[in-house]
Amino acid sequence: MSKNKSSESVKVVVRCRPMNRKEEPNGPSGGIMQMDLRLGQVILRNPRASHSEPQKTFTFDAVYDANSKQRDLYDESVRPLIDSVLAGFNGTIFAYGQTGTGKTYTMQGMWLDPEKRGVIPNAFDHIFTHISRSQSDKQYLVRASYLEIYREEIRDLLDPNHANARGLELRESPETGVYVPDLTSCVCKSIKEIEEVMNVGNQARAVAATDMNEYSSRSHALFLITVECGQPGPDGRKHIRVGRLNLVDLAGSERQAKTGVQGERLKEAAKINLSLSALGNVISALADGRSGHVPYRDSKLTRLLQDSLGGNAKTVMVATLGPAPQHYDETLTTLRYANRAKNIQNQPRVNEDPKDALLREFQREIARLRAQLNHRKWRSKQKKERLDEEDSDPDGEEDIEEEEEEVEKEAEEYVKQEEQRLEREKEAIRGDRSLLADEKQRLLGEKERMMGDLRKEQEATEQLTAKYKAIESKLLVGGKNIIDHTNEQQKMLEVKRQEIAEQSRNEREMQQKMLVQDDETLELRETFTSLQQEVEAKTKKLKKLYAKLQCIKAEIQDVNDEHVRSRQELEQTQNELTRELKFKYLIIENFIPPEEKNKIMSRMTFDPEEDQWKFQPLVPAESKPLQMKKRPTSAVGYKRPISQYARVAITMGANNRFRAENIMFLELDMNPPNTASLLGRLKDAELNLSTSADNSPTNDRGVHKSRSWCQSQTSLTSSSSNVSLSACTAMPASAQ
Ligand code: ADP
Ligand code: MG
Repeated sequence: MSKNKSSESVKVVVRCRPMNRKEEPNGPSGGIMQMDLRLGQVILRNPRASHSEPQKTFTFDAVYDANSKQRDLYDESVRPLIDSVLAGFNGTIFAYGQTGTGKTYTMQGMWLDPEKRGVIPNAFDHIFTHISRSQSDKQYLVRASYLEIYREEIRDLLDPNHANARGLELRESPETGVYVPDLTSCVCKSIKEIEEVMNVGNQARAVAATDMNEYSSRSHALFLITVECGQPGPDGRKHIRVGRLNLVDLAGSERQAKTGVQGERLKEAAKINLSLSALGNVISALADGRSGHVPYRDSKLTRLLQDSLGGNAKTVMVATLGPAPQHYDETLTTLRYANRAKNIQNQPRVNEDPKDALLREFQREIARLRAQLNHRKWRSKQKKERLDEEDSDPDGEEDIEEEEEEVEKEAEEYVKQEEQRLEREKEAIRGDRSLLADEKQRLLGEKERMMGDLRKEQEATEQLTAKYKAIESKLLVGGKNIIDHTNEQQKMLEVKRQEIAEQSRNEREMQQKMLVQDDETLELRETFTSLQQEVEAKTKKLKKLYAKLQCIKAEIQDVNDEHVRSRQELEQTQNELTRELKFKYLIIENFIPPEEKNKIMSRMTFDPEEDQWKFQPLVPAESKPLQMKKRPTSAVGYKRPISQYARVAITMGANNRFRAENIMFLELDMNPPNTASLLGRLKDAELNLSTSADNSPTNDRGVHKSRSWCQSQTSLTSSSSNVSLSACTAMPASAQ
């Protein structure tokens, strides 16, 4: 499956946007950098340093200044990559830089203005134009997906309820590398369709305002295009090449301290920076070349871009810069980052005949449906022929070639004839007086059924045809005009433009090479006529080397400073997070019962694949039957809390489950008073009146407390009923 296996480095281009209205009053119109377009160099001046301090020079594959056109960037730096994708390579373009420096402008641009359309719309044009101009023996299938990484979660932007859905997982396969298994992918047949896909996704993208850029994007967006191309090879068999294109618009790389973000936003910024710092670490590890371990697994972004950085892909990085002096630090960081990325070596290869090519599946399905349809039509034809024989009216149609339309016509005709025949037969049955009414009914019913069957079959054929046509229409065939651009002049213009772009690229490369060689060989060629001359030359050389040394020293100092700064920032983030952790601990320790906490803790497991804590299911797992949690029992060991009365009754053996329970021991008086006892009580009352004034009022009025005949009066104090009440009510509380 591998072909053209060779190593090539990541192409890095730099683009500086024009000053905006806010910046213009602040600084010199030239900004802090000069760009040498011919040499591909950026010369950066520190606005805070003295003029004697050496400027920093960086060299890239190409540089684009404030006056650069979208079209130039595309033709020079992106077009060759898209051509490779169309030839079956994997390709990635990513825009990196501080918020507001033109990442989105470069990637998307202004769709409605043909001059300002960015990389993505131009790539759409390019892909579909290429397909329409290719030879007719090529079959294409183009698919698009759109995802974003927001707070380290992958979201499918084409899924209508992506905001509520859980983050998608990542998988890895030796064939396709890292991929997202459940990602929506739309088959696109034209520029219009793929633009529609892009629009749907863009609307779903999360945008939030910060101080830096009101609509700055807080997420990393990846637009994925898969182009499968089937073509008969020299061996006569059809071969499929699959090119995958990743168009990546990263979130802003600025430091969070500058954006004035707080709270939720800070966490978000920390996560964005986690992905970006992981990307930085990956780039450093790859550029260094010495460290064996590349930390791809540290973030979702780096895992998704694993192939693009040091793997099977051709990659272009567009580093975007702002010209304003206040962004000097960020600009320098971006340039360093970009400079490091130049050293990454990729091993791109053509993906030929991968197992998971959808085109192959489509081709198989089309072949299967066609076979089914042909079979059906053939059957109809056979039946028709038989019918024709019966009617003894052969019209010699056997000789007709089985062209699709003819067969279809014949099948339709067969259905029509069959319908007419059944109608005729029905009429005949109705008109036949020799048949009994029952018999007539039965025969008519039978004919009805036959007609129903016929219709069903016809419907099934129609459905099959529709399905067949739908699948077939998804495949694009080369040479067909899906775009209206037969204009030869336009084609010529494009070719010329490409040639010019190619030429300027080559020129730049040569210039860069010459510059390096000049430096090295100049001294070697020098011959000295006198000692004096030699001293002069050597002093000059010494001065030059000294300046270089100073530059490098300054560079080291800068890098150290930056490390200190980023460490401070990390510490700040850590402090924030520790504070939050303490807050959560406080809540847990004080407001969550320890046994509940333990229960929860014992059910939690960490999933390293998803980088998340997860609850183990309550349903017992096959392997761990003890996992199921038991229903909690009451404090004294019953299934549910029950009253003391019920417990006593249970020990006595009665079925007490639904019997009402007394709260107080106030039982029915089973010995109703008679006249004699009433008289006796009256006498008592009189006696009491005369002897004591502080007798209980109940006794005074002759009203007596309900009292059990089997209990003594002393046991009926109010305190005893209180005890029993509290005993009953205490139970459920203690059982909890
Ligand atoms: P980012 O995506 O990096 O946050 P944007 O692409 O949104 O930044 O750009 C910020 C603003 O700068 C936009 O209004 C955009 O139109 C403008 N801009 C960026 N680059 C250019 C450029 N090369 N030419 C003209 N305008 C630009
Ligand atoms: Mg943006």
